[in-house]
Amino acid sequence: MRNKDNVDLICDIAELAGLFERSSSLEDFLDTATSIIAWHMKAAVCSIYLFDESSQELVLRATQGLGHQAVGHVRLQLGEGITGLALKELRSICEGRGSANPSFKYIPDIQEERYEAFLAVPILRGLVRVGVLVTQDPEPNYFDENDAKALRAIAGQLATTIENANLLMTIHEPEKEAPSPQASLPRFMRGKALSEGLSMGQAAVIGSIDEEALRSFEEDPTPRTLEDFHRALKETEEQLVGLQKDMEEELSDVASLIFSAHLLILKDAEFSGAIERLIEQGIAPPKAVSNIIHKYLNLFGSSSNPRLQEKVLDLKDLGHRLLLNLMSHNPDMADYEGRIIVAEELLPSALLKLAAQRAAGLILSTGSETSHVSILARSLRLPTLIIDQSDLALLQDDQFLVLDALQGTLFINADEEVRDSYVRLIEEQRRIAKLEPQVAPETRSADGVRVRLLANINLLSDLAHAIRLKAEGIGLYRSEFPFIVRDNFPSEEEQTRIYEKIVDRMSGRTITLRTLDIGGDKSLSYVQIHNEANPFLGLRAIRFSLRNRHIFSQQLRAMLRAGTAQSIRIMFPLVSSLDDFMHAKEVVHDCIRQLEREGTPHNSRPQLGLMVELPSAIEMIDELAQEADFISIGTNDLIQYLLAVDRTNEQISDLYVPYHPAVLRALHRAIDAAVRAGIDVSVCGDAATDPNMIIFLLGCGLRTFSVDARHIPALQKIIMKTHVEEARKIALQALRLSRIAEIEDFFETQNSAVIESE
Ligand code: PEP
Ligand code: MG
Repeated sequence: MRNKDNVDLICDIAELAGLFERSSSLEDFLDTATSIIAWHMKAAVCSIYLFDESSQELVLRATQGLGHQAVGHVRLQLGEGITGLALKELRSICEGRGSANPSFKYIPDIQEERYEAFLAVPILRGLVRVGVLVTQDPEPNYFDENDAKALRAIAGQLATTIENANLLMTIHEPEKEAPSPQASLPRFMRGKALSEGLSMGQAAVIGSIDEEALRSFEEDPTPRTLEDFHRALKETEEQLVGLQKDMEEELSDVASLIFSAHLLILKDAEFSGAIERLIEQGIAPPKAVSNIIHKYLNLFGSSSNPRLQEKVLDLKDLGHRLLLNLMSHNPDMADYEGRIIVAEELLPSALLKLAAQRAAGLILSTGSETSHVSILARSLRLPTLIIDQSDLALLQDDQFLVLDALQGTLFINADEEVRDSYVRLIEEQRRIAKLEPQVAPETRSADGVRVRLLANINLLSDLAHAIRLKAEGIGLYRSEFPFIVRDNFPSEEEQTRIYEKIVDRMSGRTITLRTLDIGGDKSLSYVQIHNEANPFLGLRAIRFSLRNRHIFSQQLRAMLRAGTAQSIRIMFPLVSSLDDFMHAKEVVHDCIRQLEREGTPHNSRPQLGLMVELPSAIEMIDELAQEADFISIGTNDLIQYLLAVDRTNEQISDLYVPYHPAVLRALHRAIDAAVRAGIDVSVCGDAATDPNMIIFLLGCGLRTFSVDARHIPALQKIIMKTHVEEARKIALQALRLSRIAEIEDFFETQNSAVIESE
């Protein structure tokens, strides 16, 4: 152990106030402070982050040990990373291994990952947040409580000096010109990955792209004719029909008629006629197109009909495509192919259209991991990052973006070195994706207990991944996506065809079809559920189905017909009472009787189960388990409703705590009730992918997991390393704890041996 000199250090820092007077700038002063602290603590790194009140961000202002190019660029939000957390919670954080802390944030370019030991101390003046003092060292567990004490004393002294220094410097500084948005553009932004992956490409800002494109086309000097317009119309139509066809092959369940609104507008004689009339009156064709597109945009945008409002994006998209075809002969340019889409938020149908046009990635400012746009983005394998709204506003069409939705970083106009390294990383990812996955067909724990791993399916295209990753069946098919992207309810025939594809491909394995789960953050444009102040508490899921019997019956008939030659499980979402479940079962039996009367081939003995997602279902679990053939616990919703934390609200995502004792106890109650009733129980929410939760759930008696197929290899690995008897002891102990932090610590110490061992 190197000899640290904490007492001397405190004395030296006391002299730093004087040092400031000798410093040429605040930066110089901070630099000297970091080097003195690093030297005395014998730490490899010392950094000072200052809190910027206006942006509410911590900015790295000085460092000894990390790359100097990061100074002024590394920005952390309150609560982000260990450093941000220290300031948010106004406490020192000392970590033997920083990377093991769940809050650890990897920051590219600064090689921070080399330094395991991490000590962060907030710099406070009273309760005013001034910044954070951080020391790091490669030797794990290098800092102890004495170091933390010393650093807190230093931070206390530095606080006033830094504040005063800052003040003095602003007085002496010449007036600065307001920076242009381009000049203040950060080199990279931090975000949260909603759908993992890497990509790079030109930004396409939804909402601005068309406006700008329209304006620049209006200024085009080349003369264009009515014939040019007719050619552009024809080319646009051909492209749209082509895109539609491609999509129907690749995504047959959701892509049907996805470009129908585009095509309808294009073929509307009023629309093209209005443009033609303007051209005949002598207006340049691009301007004529632009005028009419704008007229329609105003009409749609100001309509009180939400269905028309939703078409604004389609119209912009169409205008853009039409204009590009009018101006050039390069049809590919009209696509979003290879572009990184930037949008505040997107409807699932808009997301599909962009994916159809082979967009390379997506950046949003709203959404969360369990929101349905994220679920869809993951199924579409579209790397997606959520960033702060103020950051999003800085992104423009011409910027070249490198999107790292593994680490949660977005590079803007990255230099060649960054681009080259990502080109290599992307190639490597593609190579790995092609390798045969290392998954055993059967999963057993370290002590030989059999566990079944099923897949969650959102789109038919997910089936191939599930099969490739050796899922033993489908634990959850989210049937709503074909409903969400259409302009009307899919017919019974259409639904039957979709479900038949699932049954065919999964023949002989478990197949669980969930009935429609709309409402909440999944709305259907063609169903107006009026004025719901709280859609998550509104007419959602099974409630909607029970109120709309004909739609429910159509879906059930389609499921029963698709399952003619195969056993199937039908599952109802958001069941809140025994009454809900019994009513839903009655509708199934009505459908079976109807199909029998008609002589339509069908499955007359489906297994009927429910999702446990509500506190009321937990309270009623024994009765429900008596009536159900199986249950599946939807932790995404269960956590939301137990803790009253909106699962889509990023602002309160820190309150969405799977390790809450109430959540653990509810999970235990549900699993235990199912085991006692002798029925199958699975967990199909995201908690089934969390290593600590996997061990806890095994310990509670869970033997069926259902996850997005890409998680199967990791899930299998953890189960194969776990002794179920050990897991049982861990679960029982965890259930006795009543503080969230205690549970986190307990899991960390108990499970790390299992999770980390190779
Ligand atoms: C859940 O709530 O955990 C779940 C799996 O269903 P969804 O995410 O579709 O609401
Ligand atoms: Mg749910």
